[in-house]
Amino acid sequence: MREFLKNDPAMQRPRVNGWAVWDREFSKRLGARGWVGMNWPKMYGGGERTAFERLVVVEELLAAGAPASAHWIADRQAGPMLLRFGSEAQRAELLPKMAAGECGFCLGMSEPDSGSDLASVSTRATPVDGGWLLNGTKLWTSHAHRAEYMMLFCRSGHSGETEGRHSGVSQFVVDMRTPGLEIRPVYDQVGSHDFNEVTFTDAFVPETALVGEEGAGWRQVMSELALERSGAERFMSSFVLMREAVRALEGSTDPGALRLVGRLTSHLWTLRNMSLSIAGLLQAGASVDLEAALLKDLGAVLEQEIPEVVRLLVDSAPMRASEDALARLLGEAVLLAPTFSLRGGTREVLRNIISRGLGLR
Ligand SMILES: Cc1cc2nc3c(=O)[nH]c(=O)nc-3n(C[C@H](O)[C@H](O)[C@H](O)COP(=O)(O)OP(=O)(O)OC[C@H]3O[C@@H](n4cnc5c(N)ncnc54)[C@H](O)[C@@H]3O)c2cc1C
Repeated sequence: MREFLKNDPAMQRPRVNGWAVWDREFSKRLGARGWVGMNWPKMYGGGERTAFERLVVVEELLAAGAPASAHWIADRQAGPMLLRFGSEAQRAELLPKMAAGECGFCLGMSEPDSGSDLASVSTRATPVDGGWLLNGTKLWTSHAHRAEYMMLFCRSGHSGETEGRHSGVSQFVVDMRTPGLEIRPVYDQVGSHDFNEVTFTDAFVPETALVGEEGAGWRQVMSELALERSGAERFMSSFVLMREAVRALEGSTDPGALRLVGRLTSHLWTLRNMSLSIAGLLQAGASVDLEAALLKDLGAVLEQEIPEVVRLLVDSAPMRASEDALARLLGEAVLLAPTFSLRGGTREVLRNIISRGLGLR
């Protein structure tokens, strides 16, 4: 795989946070080599490999700063969710395309008034003849304008029916070309268009779009979030920057610099061991909500520290437009780092989950 990555045309410019950079053709090339959906059944286009083997590929992609976003959500969570909760028709239709790197997913969870408190979503699927009518707005939907499908989390049933915070919610696979679905760009502070606002106005989806059991979406989305939080991307998004800084320090005998690099490396190694353990638990079918929250929180702390430490260590200013790799990667990391403790669950929310999981509240 390292040889492939060294020679692939998409790898001329490794990036911080590469797993959030969309390159469909790159994902297709990975799919053709069996590196997407690796641990899915062969009958759905997978490779029937273990969670550990998949982790090796994930780590190599992250270590190289590969642009892997076009298949990342499908591989990490939408595919496993369909395997666990989806219908046979959904699996047969979608998984082979996902494993080929041809079919990308975005996540429709957050809304203008509902982020951390996901149970307060108000987008609704109302039952009608032959399917559902969707109404509402999703926000911060990464790559909605590029993905083929959304994994949508919303209320279901008629408005006003008795429903608790965690009941009466469901998941749907929504084709992004559905009439009544409108995508508007939201530009981030880097100036990139990855986020979107997605509105549904009487958008019809067929009955077959429902994933799993109607009304039981809370349990489903919680297991999806564990997949979203427990991957190596939660502590390796800035790995390319750290490697470049270590290169720049080669031959240094400055004890302060060596101590800082050693500290970051030992933290990285500990998180890697945690991630390996979580992959083992997932392989055994265990629930990993608490472990995933811990890994994501500790990973974000490390990832936000890396650019700060690198700034102390090297004589290079953060500059995204620079031809110098270290200055460019540092520039990317400084701008992106604040998002690491927001996306996939904020620091405070994760710490609430951890303290609850430990029985402290
Ligand atoms: C790079 C990036 C990509 C994203 N991609 C997607 C995507 O593809 N799809 C999607 O659905 N969403 C996406 N999001 C949105 C993300 O999931 C939300 O930003 C996140 O869940 C927080 O929600 P919020 O922004 O509404 O903040 P809020 O929930 O309003 O939180 C605001 C502040 O209040 C704190 N807070 C909230 N509740 C509590 C509490 N109970 N106790 C203590 N403090 C609390 C939070 O920690 C935070 O500091 C993305 C976000 C980022 C940054």
